[in-house]
Amino acid sequence: MTQVLVLVELVDGALDSSTPELLAAAAQLGEPAAVVVVEPAAALAAELGAELGALGAGIVFVASREGAGSQLVTPQVAALEAAVAASGDVSAVIVSNSTDGREAGARLAIRIDGAYQSDAVGIAAADGGIVVTQQAFGGSYTVTAGTGRGIPVISLRPHSIEGAAPAAAGTVREIDISGDTAVTTEITARHEQTQVSERPSLQTADIVVSGGRGLGSKEKFELVEQLADSLGAAVGASRAAVDAGYCDHNMQVGQTGVTVSPNLYIALGISGAIQHRAGMQSAKTIIAINRDADSPIFEVADFGVVGDLFTVVPQLIDAVNARRG
Ligand SMILES: Cc1cc2nc3c(=O)[nH]c(=O)nc-3n(C[C@H](O)[C@H](O)[C@H](O)COP(=O)(O)OP(=O)(O)OC[C@H]3O[C@@H](n4cnc5c(N)ncnc54)[C@H](O)[C@@H]3O)c2cc1C
Repeated sequence: MTQVLVLVELVDGALDSSTPELLAAAAQLGEPAAVVVVEPAAALAAELGAELGALGAGIVFVASREGAGSQLVTPQVAALEAAVAASGDVSAVIVSNSTDGREAGARLAIRIDGAYQSDAVGIAAADGGIVVTQQAFGGSYTVTAGTGRGIPVISLRPHSIEGAAPAAAGTVREIDISGDTAVTTEITARHEQTQVSERPSLQTADIVVSGGRGLGSKEKFELVEQLADSLGAAVGASRAAVDAGYCDHNMQVGQTGVTVSPNLYIALGISGAIQHRAGMQSAKTIIAINRDADSPIFEVADFGVVGDLFTVVPQLIDAVNARRG
């Protein structure tokens, strides 16, 4: 069986939460093999092999580079290229649709003269090739496409693939990227931001609760946060809510904000403009609470409550808290 390489991102030395899903996607196409860049430390490679093997990686290509943690993407591109060469039989490369994943994937595609497809919401083997599903025109259409020439490099949107890859050997193979002299951007300083909450990250959260202009004020937007906290969810917002100063701009979901694809998206006081839907309509289940029964958000909602959110949401929070005991 051909190998499908997965770029593994590390966050503070731990596997990024996208890793199991990327390996599960790879398992649908061939034999998953992980590619990871570490700071030189022999013990770490063995640990990663066991961890990634449990998640389905038959082989774990490990490249080490001094200072990798403060270099932007180039070590990962070099490692992917070296792993493609070392494997000799790669049918696809899958990266996360994160900022780093997209950047590394696109650069790799150039290097290996492969086809690059970004923001896939589905991947499947078909007719001896690979078919990628994407959303087009702000999510108005779902399209499938073959992967063209060369080795396909695909970035996968979080929560697109269900299931897990069966555990595999996790055999570590060290790869040498010392000969790669590509110019590297170095991070020279880091400015810590005060963590304001323990909430999950908006892009990868399982549940997202978003608020719109219907909340009416920054103070009342706290209701969105309360519901999110009762569900262990991330908080999102419409652009109108952001523009009105109810919350921070990095919470904006939509065409000019973040694209999310959680298992559950709850829209509170959001009308459902096309630009907002572009960023959330691939969510598995959508619940909308809006007092206007004709709001376009109900066109994409699986469940809808027509009512005043200030009446409905406190009851919902009470019900969730009661269930959680
Ligand atoms: C180029 C461009 C890019 C854009 N990018 C984005 C983007 O990335 N993300 C984005 O969100 N928007 C984006 N927009 C803006 C978008 O067109 C909408 O204006 C915006 O999404 C509207 O936000 P909203 O639904 O919160 O507000 P509104 O459209 O004003 O809707 C508020 C809703 O709240 C409901 N409501 C009010 N009070 C209550 C209550 N008490 N109980 C229940 N329901 C209530 C109303 O019925 C209404 O449906 C973009 C626009 C442009 C032109």
